[in-house]
Amino acid sequence: MFKKDTKIKPFESKLWLASPTMHGEELKYMQEAYETNWMSTVGANINEVERITCEKIGCGYSVALASGTAALHMAIKLAGERLYGQPTAGHGALEGHKAFCSDMTFDATVNPVAYEGGELIFIDTEYDTWNMDPVALEKAFELYPDVKLVVLVHLYGTPGKVDEIRAICDKHGALIVEDAAESLGASYKGKQTGSFGDFNAISFNGNKIITGSAGGMFLTDNKDDANKVRKWSTQSREDAAWYQHEELGYNYRMSNVIAGVVRGQYLYLEEHIAQKKEIYMRYKKGFKGLPVQMNPYDESKSEPNFWLSCIIINKDAMCRQVRGEKDALYIPEAGKSCPTEILEAIALINAEGRPIWKPMHMQPIYRMNPFITANGSGRARSNAYIKETGMMDVGADIFERGLCLPSDNKMTIEQIDVIIETVRECFK
Ligand SMILES: *Cc1c(COP(=O)(O)O)cnc(C)c1O
Repeated sequence: MFKKDTKIKPFESKLWLASPTMHGEELKYMQEAYETNWMSTVGANINEVERITCEKIGCGYSVALASGTAALHMAIKLAGERLYGQPTAGHGALEGHKAFCSDMTFDATVNPVAYEGGELIFIDTEYDTWNMDPVALEKAFELYPDVKLVVLVHLYGTPGKVDEIRAICDKHGALIVEDAAESLGASYKGKQTGSFGDFNAISFNGNKIITGSAGGMFLTDNKDDANKVRKWSTQSREDAAWYQHEELGYNYRMSNVIAGVVRGQYLYLEEHIAQKKEIYMRYKKGFKGLPVQMNPYDESKSEPNFWLSCIIINKDAMCRQVRGEKDALYIPEAGKSCPTEILEAIALINAEGRPIWKPMHMQPIYRMNPFITANGSGRARSNAYIKETGMMDVGADIFERGLCLPSDNKMTIEQIDVIIETVRECFK
C-alpha cells in the first residue's frame, strides 16, 4: 500500500511512457526535402526509408504509408482479395467472412478487419509472451474450420509464438497478417518480426521505438502486392492522361518530409533498442523480492526490442480493485497493491504509466464478438460468466494484474531507480 505522504520527490519534468527521441539527422533530411521542394509523397527520403526497411527486416518490398493503421488496412484488404476476390464498389473485401484476431492489443491491429466488413473472432492470450495463444487458435479452427485469415500482433515488442502459429495456419490453409507496429527490430530465431506474415505492417507513430512523428509501412516479398498497395494508397489512379479509376482508392502514402524524420531515426534504431533493454533489465533487477514479474519472453528463441517495460502482480499480492468502463477503485491493503494504486503513485511523482492494453473482447465495441480461449468460447463476456463456466480468460487476467511502466529512452538510471522505489513503496 502506497502512503501518499511518501518522501519520494516528484520529477521536475514529466517522465513519459515512451516519447519521441530526436538526434539531429532527422532535421537535416527534412530540410533536404524542403530545399529540393520534394514536399509531397515522392522523393529521396521515401525511397531511402523503403530501402533501409527492406534491408533491416529482410523483406523484398516495402511501401511507405501515412500510418501503421493504413499499412494494416492495406494488408488486410489484400488478404481479403487474395482469399475472396475483388469486392464490388461499396462492399468490403471480407464481407461475409470471419478472421481470427489477437485479443490483447491496440485496436488498430484489428479494426481494419471491420473496415473491410469482416467478422472479428478474438483469440485469447498466453502467459509466456503475452501474445496469441496457439492452443486457443487451434481450438478456434475446430469451431470455425472455414476461417482463412489470422491477424497477429507482437505486443510491447515481444515476439509471439511464431512457429506454432505458422504451423497451425499452414495446416488450415490460412493467411497471416503480422502487426509488427510495436516490435520493429525484434527478432524470433534470428529473423526480424515483420517478415513472418503473408502481409506485414510496422509503425512510426510518435511513441514507437523509432518515429517519423507519424507513418507506417507495408512489407511483403510479393512484388505484385507491393505495387497494388502503391496504387491503392495513391487513390488507385490508372495509367491514363485523366483521373481514371477501376478500384477504390485511398490517400495513404507517406510524405517525403515525414520520411526524412524516419530516415534520420533509423540511424538510432539499435541504440534505442539497447536503451530500452537497459531500462527493462534494471527494472527486472530492481524488483527482485517483490511479488511482481516483468512482461516475459522466450529467451531461447526471441530477442524483443523491449519497447515497453511492464509488470504483472502475483495473484496473492493483489489488493482489491474494481474497474468500470471508465474508472477504477481499490482498497489499500498493507503488503499488497494493484495496477490502479501503482499508476496513481507513479502519476503522483510526475511520471506516466499505463494499464495493459484492454483486451478487445472486453471493449464495448467488440463485446458481442466471439472470443475463444484455450478451454472454451463465449460471447458477451462477464466475470460471472467466466466463474460459472470455469472458462479461462488470460487477457482479462493480465489486464487486471498488469501495467506498463515509464519506458522512455531518455530516462536516467537515477530516474529508473526512483520508479523502482515508488513501486516498492506500494507493496509496504
Ligand atoms: C501503434 C500501433 C498501431 C498503429 O500504428 P499507427 O502508426 O499509430 O497507425 C497498430 N498496432 C499496434 C499494436 C500499435 O501499437
